[in-house]
Amino acid sequence: MPSERRRRAGGHDEHATVVTATAVRLRVDPIACDAFGYCVELLPEIVGLDEWGFPVLDDTPVPPYLIDLAKRAVRDCPRRALLLERAPSSPG
Ligand code: SF4
Repeated sequence: MPSERRRRAGGHDEHATVVTATAVRLRVDPIACDAFGYCVELLPEIVGLDEWGFPVLDDTPVPPYLIDLAKRAVRDCPRRALLLERAPSSPG
């Protein structure tokens, strides 16, 4: 039945999005990075710059609404210096 299939697929997708959104953070390999700053232009909400132009990231999980942009930044980084990694689960 098409509507039942859609409902099940929607529930599965929703769950997957929540798990991914709360479980990953963006990291940078400072050796590979050339400080060009593409990732900063793409994700100013979570990537800052230090005084030499290298990206500065904190350890907080990537917000759900920025997951797709974070994946794009990882994919498009010219030096392959960005990665998404699983964030440690919060205590409690
Ligand atoms: S896009 Fe990649 S190489 Fe450029 S500043 Fe960001 S991490 Fe570094």
